[in-house]
Amino acid sequence: MRLGKILFLGSIAVLSVLVVRSVWQRPEVKNFFDPQLVMDPLDLPANPTAGEEWDSAIAPAQAGNPGLSVRRLSQGAAAHPMDAAWPQAQAVCWARLGRFDSALSSLERCLAIAPLSPQATMLRRNSRIQHGLELATTGEPWKGRQLGEAVLQEFPDDSDAQFLVGYSRAMEGAIPLAEEILNEYTQRHPGSIPARAILAQCALRRGDAVRARIQVDLLEGLDPGSVQTTALLGQLVSLETRKPGASNRDLRVLCIETCPPSLESEVLDEAERAWNMLRLATGSSPTLPVSILIGTHSAAPHWAAATFDGQVHLPLEAAQNPALRTTILRHELTHAFLSSASGGRVPLWVNEGLAQYFQGERIKTLPGSATSGWLDSLPLRRSFLDLQEDQAELAYKYSLAVAQELMELHNSTALEAYLQRLREGREEPEAFRKSFGDDYAQLSERIRRRL
Ligand SMILES: [Zn+2]
Repeated sequence: MRLGKILFLGSIAVLSVLVVRSVWQRPEVKNFFDPQLVMDPLDLPANPTAGEEWDSAIAPAQAGNPGLSVRRLSQGAAAHPMDAAWPQAQAVCWARLGRFDSALSSLERCLAIAPLSPQATMLRRNSRIQHGLELATTGEPWKGRQLGEAVLQEFPDDSDAQFLVGYSRAMEGAIPLAEEILNEYTQRHPGSIPARAILAQCALRRGDAVRARIQVDLLEGLDPGSVQTTALLGQLVSLETRKPGASNRDLRVLCIETCPPSLESEVLDEAERAWNMLRLATGSSPTLPVSILIGTHSAAPHWAAATFDGQVHLPLEAAQNPALRTTILRHELTHAFLSSASGGRVPLWVNEGLAQYFQGERIKTLPGSATSGWLDSLPLRRSFLDLQEDQAELAYKYSLAVAQELMELHNSTALEAYLQRLREGREEPEAFRKSFGDDYAQLSERIRRRL
Protein backbone atom coordinates (compact mmCIF):
# COMPACT_ATOMS: atom_id res chain seq x y z
CA MET A 1 0.00 0.00 0.00
CA ARG A 2 2.63 2.39 1.10
CA LEU A 3 4.97 1.40 -1.68
CA GLY A 4 2.16 1.87 -4.18
CA LYS A 5 1.61 5.35 -2.91
CA ILE A 6 5.29 6.21 -3.22
CA LEU A 7 5.48 4.86 -6.75
CA PHE A 8 2.39 6.81 -7.60
CA LEU A 9 3.90 10.03 -6.31
CA GLY A 10 7.07 9.24 -8.18
CA SER A 11 5.29 8.95 -11.46
CA ILE A 12 3.01 11.91 -10.94
CA ALA A 13 5.91 14.19 -10.08
CA VAL A 14 7.02 14.50 -13.68
CA LEU A 15 3.63 15.18 -15.16
CA SER A 16 3.25 18.54 -16.62
CA VAL A 17 0.56 20.50 -18.29
CA LEU A 18 0.29 22.92 -21.10
CA VAL A 19 -1.15 25.99 -19.51
CA VAL A 20 -2.48 28.46 -21.95
CA ARG A 21 -5.70 29.98 -20.88
CA SER A 22 -5.27 31.02 -17.29
CA VAL A 23 -1.99 32.90 -17.58
CA TRP A 24 -2.80 34.99 -20.62
CA GLN A 25 -3.81 38.48 -19.91
CA ARG A 26 -6.79 38.70 -22.21
CA PRO A 27 -6.63 41.53 -24.68
CA GLU A 28 -9.70 43.67 -25.18
CA VAL A 29 -10.99 42.08 -28.34
CA LYS A 30 -14.73 42.00 -27.92
CA ASN A 31 -15.69 45.20 -29.64
CA PHE A 32 -12.92 45.89 -32.00
CA PHE A 33 -14.87 45.29 -35.19
CA ASP A 34 -16.23 48.06 -37.23
CA PRO A 35 -19.71 48.39 -35.68
CA GLN A 36 -21.17 49.13 -39.11
CA LEU A 37 -19.98 45.80 -40.37
CA VAL A 38 -21.53 43.92 -37.50
CA MET A 39 -24.85 45.73 -37.52
CA ASP A 40 -25.53 45.77 -41.25
CA PRO A 41 -26.73 42.20 -41.75
CA LEU A 42 -28.94 42.36 -38.69
CA ASP A 43 -31.89 43.44 -40.81
CA LEU A 44 -34.80 41.04 -40.74
CA PRO A 45 -35.44 39.30 -44.06
CA ALA A 46 -38.54 40.14 -46.07
CA ASN A 47 -41.26 37.52 -46.36
CA PRO A 48 -44.07 39.28 -48.26
CA THR A 49 -46.28 36.21 -48.78
CA ALA A 50 -46.29 35.01 -45.16
CA GLY A 51 -49.00 37.37 -43.97
CA GLU A 52 -50.14 38.14 -40.47
CA GLU A 53 -48.41 35.22 -38.76
CA TRP A 54 -45.08 36.59 -39.97
CA ASP A 55 -45.90 40.18 -39.06
CA SER A 56 -46.80 39.25 -35.48
CA ALA A 57 -43.64 37.12 -35.16
CA ILE A 58 -41.25 39.89 -36.18
CA ALA A 59 -43.13 42.78 -34.54
CA PRO A 60 -41.47 42.29 -31.09
CA ALA A 61 -37.99 42.33 -32.70
CA GLN A 62 -38.86 45.55 -34.51
CA ALA A 63 -39.96 46.99 -31.19
CA GLY A 64 -36.71 45.94 -29.50
CA ASN A 65 -37.71 42.56 -28.00
CA PRO A 66 -35.95 39.96 -30.19
CA GLY A 67 -36.33 37.29 -27.47
CA LEU A 68 -40.10 37.16 -27.94
CA SER A 69 -39.67 37.04 -31.73
CA VAL A 70 -37.37 34.04 -31.43
CA ARG A 71 -40.18 32.04 -29.78
CA ARG A 72 -42.83 33.07 -32.30
CA LEU A 73 -40.48 32.49 -35.22
CA SER A 74 -39.71 28.96 -34.10
CA GLN A 75 -43.43 28.17 -34.16
CA GLY A 76 -43.57 29.61 -37.67
CA ALA A 77 -40.51 27.64 -38.71
CA ALA A 78 -42.17 24.43 -37.53
CA ALA A 79 -45.34 25.29 -39.47
CA HIS A 80 -43.43 26.23 -42.66
CA PRO A 81 -40.47 23.84 -42.78
CA MET A 82 -39.60 24.69 -46.40
CA ASP A 83 -39.43 28.46 -45.90
CA ALA A 84 -35.90 29.59 -44.98
CA ALA A 85 -37.05 33.11 -44.07
CA TRP A 86 -38.21 31.86 -40.64
CA PRO A 87 -34.91 30.43 -39.40
CA GLN A 88 -33.07 33.36 -41.04
CA ALA A 89 -35.18 35.85 -39.08
CA GLN A 90 -34.51 33.76 -35.99
CA ALA A 91 -30.78 33.97 -36.64
CA VAL A 92 -31.07 37.77 -36.87
CA CYS A 93 -32.88 37.86 -33.53
CA TRP A 94 -30.31 35.61 -31.87
CA ALA A 95 -27.52 37.84 -33.18
CA ARG A 96 -29.31 40.92 -31.82
CA LEU A 97 -29.36 39.16 -28.45
CA GLY A 98 -25.62 38.53 -28.75
CA ARG A 99 -26.25 34.74 -28.96
CA PHE A 100 -24.04 34.04 -31.94
CA ASP A 101 -23.86 30.29 -31.31
CA SER A 102 -27.66 30.07 -31.62
CA ALA A 103 -27.58 32.35 -34.68
CA LEU A 104 -25.20 29.87 -36.31
CA SER A 105 -27.53 26.94 -35.50
CA SER A 106 -30.48 28.81 -37.06
CA LEU A 107 -28.41 29.51 -40.17
CA GLU A 108 -27.62 25.79 -40.40
CA ARG A 109 -31.38 25.20 -40.60
CA CYS A 110 -31.65 27.79 -43.40
CA LEU A 111 -28.93 26.02 -45.27
CA ALA A 112 -30.76 22.72 -44.99
CA ILE A 113 -33.66 24.38 -46.86
CA ALA A 114 -31.88 26.47 -49.51
CA PRO A 115 -28.51 28.10 -50.27
CA LEU A 116 -27.91 31.12 -48.00
CA SER A 117 -28.89 34.54 -49.29
CA PRO A 118 -26.06 37.14 -49.43
CA GLN A 119 -27.48 38.73 -46.28
CA ALA A 120 -27.56 35.40 -44.43
CA THR A 121 -24.02 34.62 -45.66
CA MET A 122 -22.83 37.88 -44.14
CA LEU A 123 -24.64 37.15 -40.89
CA ARG A 124 -22.97 33.74 -40.74
CA ARG A 125 -19.58 35.34 -41.31
CA ASN A 126 -20.12 37.85 -38.51
CA SER A 127 -21.58 35.27 -36.14
CA ARG A 128 -18.64 32.92 -36.74
CA ILE A 129 -16.18 35.69 -35.90
CA GLN A 130 -18.04 36.91 -32.84
CA HIS A 131 -18.62 33.40 -31.52
CA GLY A 132 -15.03 32.45 -32.41
CA LEU A 133 -13.72 35.32 -30.29
CA GLU A 134 -15.92 34.23 -27.38
CA LEU A 135 -14.60 30.67 -27.64
CA ALA A 136 -10.97 31.77 -27.92
CA THR A 137 -11.38 34.00 -24.88
CA THR A 138 -13.17 31.43 -22.75
CA GLY A 139 -10.78 28.51 -23.06
CA GLU A 140 -11.72 26.79 -26.32
CA PRO A 141 -9.33 28.49 -28.75
CA TRP A 142 -9.17 25.51 -31.12
CA LYS A 143 -12.90 25.89 -31.76
CA GLY A 144 -12.49 29.63 -32.22
CA ARG A 145 -9.75 29.00 -34.74
CA GLN A 146 -11.91 26.56 -36.71
CA LEU A 147 -14.59 29.23 -37.06
CA GLY A 148 -11.97 31.74 -38.26
CA GLU A 149 -10.66 29.22 -40.77
CA ALA A 150 -14.20 28.57 -42.02
CA VAL A 151 -14.61 32.31 -42.70
CA LEU A 152 -11.27 32.43 -44.50
CA GLN A 153 -12.33 29.60 -46.77
CA GLU A 154 -15.26 31.68 -47.91
CA PHE A 155 -13.53 35.08 -47.74
CA PRO A 156 -9.76 34.54 -48.08
CA ASP A 157 -9.01 38.25 -47.61
CA ASP A 158 -11.05 38.65 -44.43
CA SER A 159 -8.68 40.28 -41.99
CA ASP A 160 -11.03 39.99 -38.99
CA ALA A 161 -10.96 36.22 -39.53
CA GLN A 162 -7.19 36.38 -39.83
CA PHE A 163 -7.08 38.19 -36.50
CA LEU A 164 -9.32 35.52 -34.94
CA VAL A 165 -7.04 32.72 -36.17
CA GLY A 166 -3.92 34.53 -34.89
CA TYR A 167 -5.52 35.27 -31.54
CA SER A 168 -6.72 31.66 -31.17
CA ARG A 169 -3.25 30.39 -32.05
CA ALA A 170 -1.77 32.53 -29.28
CA MET A 171 -4.33 31.20 -26.82
CA GLU A 172 -3.54 27.66 -27.97
CA GLY A 173 0.11 28.29 -27.07
CA ALA A 174 1.37 28.14 -30.68
CA ILE A 175 3.27 31.35 -30.19
CA PRO A 176 5.58 31.54 -33.24
CA LEU A 177 2.63 30.76 -35.50
CA ALA A 178 0.44 33.36 -33.77
CA GLU A 179 3.20 35.94 -34.26
CA GLU A 180 3.52 35.07 -37.94
CA ILE A 181 -0.21 35.54 -38.54
CA LEU A 182 -0.58 38.68 -36.42
CA ASN A 183 2.51 40.34 -37.90
CA GLU A 184 0.92 39.90 -41.29
CA TYR A 185 -2.34 41.26 -39.90
CA THR A 186 -0.68 44.39 -38.48
CA GLN A 187 0.78 45.19 -41.89
CA ARG A 188 -2.81 45.84 -42.95
CA HIS A 189 -3.93 47.19 -39.59
CA PRO A 190 -0.92 48.89 -37.97
CA GLY A 191 -3.16 50.67 -35.46
CA SER A 192 -4.86 47.55 -34.08
CA ILE A 193 -4.57 47.72 -30.30
CA PRO A 194 -5.62 44.10 -29.62
CA ALA A 195 -3.19 42.72 -32.19
CA ARG A 196 -0.33 44.83 -30.77
CA ALA A 197 -1.20 43.69 -27.24
CA ILE A 198 -1.17 40.01 -28.22
CA LEU A 199 2.13 40.42 -30.09
CA ALA A 200 3.62 42.10 -27.02
CA GLN A 201 2.47 39.19 -24.86
CA CYS A 202 3.86 36.65 -27.32
CA ALA A 203 7.27 38.32 -27.20
CA LEU A 204 7.15 38.54 -23.39
CA ARG A 205 6.22 34.87 -23.29
CA ARG A 206 9.34 34.05 -25.28
CA GLY A 207 11.47 36.26 -23.06
CA ASP A 208 12.21 38.48 -26.09
CA ALA A 209 12.53 41.98 -24.61
CA VAL A 210 13.54 43.61 -27.90
CA ARG A 211 10.43 42.57 -29.82
CA ALA A 212 8.21 43.21 -26.79
CA ARG A 213 9.62 46.75 -26.52
CA ILE A 214 8.68 47.50 -30.13
CA GLN A 215 5.04 46.47 -29.55
CA VAL A 216 4.73 48.16 -26.15
CA ASP A 217 6.16 51.43 -27.53
CA LEU A 218 3.55 51.31 -30.28
CA LEU A 219 0.82 50.61 -27.70
CA GLU A 220 1.91 53.60 -25.65
CA GLY A 221 1.18 55.71 -28.72
CA LEU A 222 -2.09 53.97 -29.61
CA ASP A 223 -3.60 53.34 -26.19
CA PRO A 224 -1.70 55.45 -23.64
CA GLY A 225 -2.35 54.90 -19.96
CA SER A 226 -4.87 52.04 -20.36
CA VAL A 227 -4.89 49.15 -17.88
CA GLN A 228 -3.65 46.83 -20.62
CA THR A 229 -0.78 49.05 -21.77
CA THR A 230 0.32 49.75 -18.20
CA ALA A 231 0.33 46.03 -17.31
CA LEU A 232 2.34 45.11 -20.40
CA LEU A 233 4.82 47.91 -19.73
CA GLY A 234 5.28 46.61 -16.18
CA GLN A 235 5.99 43.08 -17.43
CA LEU A 236 8.39 44.44 -20.03
CA VAL A 237 10.36 46.53 -17.55
CA SER A 238 10.79 43.54 -15.24
CA LEU A 239 12.01 41.47 -18.21
CA GLU A 240 14.44 44.21 -19.27
CA THR A 241 15.87 44.71 -15.80
CA ARG A 242 16.36 41.01 -15.10
CA LYS A 243 19.93 39.93 -14.75
CA PRO A 244 21.16 38.22 -17.90
CA GLY A 245 21.00 34.52 -16.83
CA ALA A 246 22.65 31.83 -18.93
CA SER A 247 21.96 31.38 -22.61
CA ASN A 248 23.09 29.89 -25.89
CA ARG A 249 21.69 30.16 -29.41
CA ASP A 250 18.60 28.08 -28.61
CA LEU A 251 17.95 28.46 -24.91
CA ARG A 252 17.70 31.14 -22.25
CA VAL A 253 17.75 30.15 -18.60
CA LEU A 254 16.72 32.71 -16.00
CA CYS A 255 16.33 32.48 -12.25
CA ILE A 256 13.31 34.41 -11.09
CA GLU A 257 13.89 33.62 -7.43
CA THR A 258 17.30 33.75 -5.77
CA CYS A 259 19.25 30.79 -7.10
CA PRO A 260 22.58 29.19 -6.09
CA PRO A 261 25.38 30.74 -8.20
CA SER A 262 25.94 28.01 -10.80
CA LEU A 263 22.36 26.75 -11.16
CA GLU A 264 21.49 28.63 -14.35
CA SER A 265 24.46 27.25 -16.27
CA GLU A 266 23.87 23.73 -14.90
CA VAL A 267 20.27 23.85 -16.10
CA LEU A 268 21.43 25.27 -19.45
CA ASP A 269 23.86 22.34 -19.93
CA GLU A 270 21.16 19.84 -19.11
CA ALA A 271 18.64 21.58 -21.36
CA GLU A 272 21.17 21.58 -24.21
CA ARG A 273 21.56 17.80 -23.91
CA ALA A 274 17.78 17.41 -23.98
CA TRP A 275 17.64 19.77 -26.98
CA ASN A 276 20.11 17.69 -28.99
CA MET A 277 18.32 14.45 -28.16
CA LEU A 278 14.98 15.94 -29.26
CA ARG A 279 16.39 17.40 -32.45
CA LEU A 280 17.46 13.92 -33.53
CA ALA A 281 14.20 12.34 -32.40
CA THR A 282 11.86 14.81 -34.11
CA GLY A 283 13.98 15.86 -37.09
CA SER A 284 13.78 19.60 -36.41
CA SER A 285 14.13 22.14 -33.62
CA PRO A 286 12.21 25.27 -32.60
CA THR A 287 12.99 28.24 -34.80
CA LEU A 288 12.91 30.71 -31.91
CA PRO A 289 14.85 30.42 -28.63
CA VAL A 290 13.00 28.79 -25.73
CA SER A 291 13.11 30.35 -22.26
CA ILE A 292 13.36 28.33 -19.08
CA LEU A 293 12.31 30.24 -15.99
CA ILE A 294 13.48 28.80 -12.68
CA GLY A 295 11.41 29.39 -9.61
CA THR A 296 8.24 30.75 -11.11
CA HIS A 297 4.89 29.24 -10.50
CA SER A 298 2.10 29.52 -12.99
CA ALA A 299 -1.53 28.60 -12.72
CA ALA A 300 -1.25 24.82 -12.85
CA PRO A 301 -3.08 22.13 -10.88
CA HIS A 302 -1.30 20.88 -7.77
CA TRP A 303 -0.36 17.60 -9.42
CA ALA A 304 1.75 19.22 -12.12
CA ALA A 305 5.50 19.40 -11.53
CA ALA A 306 6.32 21.97 -14.19
CA THR A 307 4.57 23.72 -17.04
CA PHE A 308 5.10 24.85 -20.60
CA ASP A 309 3.09 27.82 -21.83
CA GLY A 310 5.48 29.05 -24.51
CA GLN A 311 8.27 29.04 -21.97
CA VAL A 312 9.25 26.38 -19.46
CA HIS A 313 8.47 27.04 -15.79
CA LEU A 314 10.76 24.96 -13.61
CA PRO A 315 10.28 25.06 -9.84
CA LEU A 316 13.48 25.84 -7.91
CA GLU A 317 13.41 22.54 -6.00
CA ALA A 318 13.15 20.53 -9.21
CA ALA A 319 15.95 22.58 -10.81
CA GLN A 320 18.25 21.65 -7.93
CA ASN A 321 17.57 17.92 -8.21
CA PRO A 322 19.73 16.60 -11.11
CA ALA A 323 17.69 13.46 -11.82
CA LEU A 324 14.36 15.24 -11.66
CA ARG A 325 15.43 18.25 -13.71
CA THR A 326 16.73 16.01 -16.52
CA THR A 327 13.36 14.30 -16.75
CA ILE A 328 11.38 17.51 -16.53
CA LEU A 329 13.50 19.37 -19.08
CA ARG A 330 13.14 16.55 -21.60
CA HIS A 331 9.41 16.51 -21.00
CA GLU A 332 8.82 20.26 -21.21
CA LEU A 333 11.17 20.80 -24.14
CA THR A 334 9.32 18.05 -26.02
CA HIS A 335 6.27 20.32 -25.82
CA ALA A 336 8.33 23.19 -27.29
CA PHE A 337 9.62 20.98 -30.11
CA LEU A 338 6.23 19.49 -30.97
CA SER A 339 4.52 22.86 -30.85
CA SER A 340 7.07 24.38 -33.22
CA ALA A 341 7.25 21.42 -35.61
CA SER A 342 3.47 21.02 -35.90
CA GLY A 343 2.57 24.70 -35.86
CA GLY A 344 0.82 24.12 -32.53
CA ARG A 345 -1.49 21.49 -34.06
CA VAL A 346 -0.35 18.33 -32.34
CA PRO A 347 -3.22 16.59 -30.47
CA LEU A 348 -3.08 16.59 -26.68
CA TRP A 349 -2.57 12.83 -26.30
CA VAL A 350 0.35 12.87 -28.78
CA ASN A 351 1.82 15.90 -27.02
CA GLU A 352 1.65 14.46 -23.52
CA GLY A 353 2.34 10.89 -24.66
CA LEU A 354 5.52 11.81 -26.52
CA ALA A 355 6.66 14.19 -23.76
CA GLN A 356 6.59 11.23 -21.37
CA TYR A 357 8.15 8.94 -23.95
CA PHE A 358 11.07 11.29 -24.59
CA GLN A 359 11.54 11.97 -20.88
CA GLY A 360 12.36 8.24 -20.72
CA GLU A 361 9.14 6.92 -19.18
CA ARG A 362 7.81 3.57 -20.43
CA ILE A 363 4.59 1.70 -19.68
CA LYS A 364 5.42 -1.59 -18.05
CA THR A 365 2.01 -2.58 -16.79
CA LEU A 366 -1.18 -1.31 -18.34
CA PRO A 367 -4.08 -0.16 -16.15
CA GLY A 368 -6.96 -2.63 -15.72
CA SER A 369 -9.56 -3.01 -18.47
CA ALA A 370 -12.15 -1.19 -16.33
CA THR A 371 -10.51 2.07 -17.34
CA SER A 372 -10.28 1.28 -21.08
CA GLY A 373 -12.88 3.98 -21.84
CA TRP A 374 -9.96 6.39 -21.73
CA LEU A 375 -8.76 4.97 -25.03
CA ASP A 376 -11.92 6.32 -26.68
CA SER A 377 -12.00 9.68 -24.95
CA LEU A 378 -8.29 10.55 -25.38
CA PRO A 379 -8.52 11.94 -28.93
CA LEU A 380 -11.52 14.09 -27.94
CA ARG A 381 -9.76 15.70 -24.97
CA ARG A 382 -8.41 19.22 -25.35
CA SER A 383 -7.20 19.57 -21.79
CA PHE A 384 -6.29 17.42 -18.80
CA LEU A 385 -6.31 20.48 -16.55
CA ASP A 386 -9.84 19.94 -15.33
CA LEU A 387 -9.16 16.40 -14.12
CA GLN A 388 -8.76 15.15 -10.59
CA GLU A 389 -5.34 13.73 -9.79
CA ASP A 390 -6.30 10.03 -10.19
CA GLN A 391 -8.08 10.69 -13.50
CA ALA A 392 -5.18 12.82 -14.71
CA GLU A 393 -2.82 9.96 -13.97
CA LEU A 394 -4.90 7.61 -16.15
CA ALA A 395 -5.09 10.19 -18.95
CA TYR A 396 -1.30 10.54 -18.96
CA LYS A 397 -0.77 6.80 -18.69
CA TYR A 398 -2.99 6.02 -21.68
CA SER A 399 -1.43 8.86 -23.67
CA LEU A 400 1.96 7.29 -23.03
CA ALA A 401 0.70 3.79 -23.86
CA VAL A 402 -0.56 4.88 -27.28
CA ALA A 403 2.47 7.09 -28.01
CA GLN A 404 4.83 4.31 -26.99
CA GLU A 405 3.02 1.86 -29.26
CA LEU A 406 3.34 4.39 -32.07
CA MET A 407 7.07 4.91 -31.52
CA GLU A 408 7.72 1.18 -31.32
CA LEU A 409 5.94 0.59 -34.64
CA HIS A 410 7.43 3.54 -36.54
CA ASN A 411 10.71 5.35 -36.96
CA SER A 412 11.46 9.03 -36.42
CA THR A 413 11.04 9.76 -40.14
CA ALA A 414 7.34 8.94 -39.85
CA LEU A 415 7.02 11.24 -36.84
CA GLU A 416 8.85 14.00 -38.73
CA ALA A 417 6.50 13.60 -41.70
CA TYR A 418 3.45 13.70 -39.43
CA LEU A 419 4.57 16.94 -37.74
CA GLN A 420 5.40 18.46 -41.11
CA ARG A 421 1.93 17.63 -42.47
CA LEU A 422 0.31 19.25 -39.45
CA ARG A 423 2.49 22.32 -39.90
CA GLU A 424 1.30 22.54 -43.53
CA GLY A 425 -2.29 22.63 -42.33
CA ARG A 426 -3.45 19.10 -43.24
CA GLU A 427 -6.33 17.72 -41.21
CA GLU A 428 -4.97 15.76 -38.25
CA PRO A 429 -6.58 12.35 -39.02
CA GLU A 430 -5.33 12.56 -42.61
CA ALA A 431 -1.82 13.59 -41.51
CA PHE A 432 -1.81 10.68 -39.07
CA ARG A 433 -2.94 8.12 -41.65
CA LYS A 434 -0.56 9.31 -44.37
CA SER A 435 2.42 9.31 -42.00
CA PHE A 436 1.79 6.18 -39.94
CA GLY A 437 -0.41 4.21 -42.37
CA ASP A 438 -2.75 3.59 -39.46
CA ASP A 439 -5.40 5.51 -37.61
CA TYR A 440 -5.90 6.21 -33.93
CA ALA A 441 -8.68 3.62 -33.66
CA GLN A 442 -6.45 0.81 -34.97
CA LEU A 443 -3.58 1.87 -32.77
CA SER A 444 -5.66 2.09 -29.60
CA GLU A 445 -7.29 -1.27 -30.41
CA ARG A 446 -3.86 -2.92 -30.16
CA ILE A 447 -3.61 -1.64 -26.62
CA ARG A 448 -7.17 -2.53 -25.69
CA ARG A 449 -6.48 -6.16 -26.64
CA ARG A 450 -3.67 -6.28 -24.10
CA LEU A 451 -5.63 -4.81 -21.17
ZN1 LIG B 1 3.36 17.75 -20.33
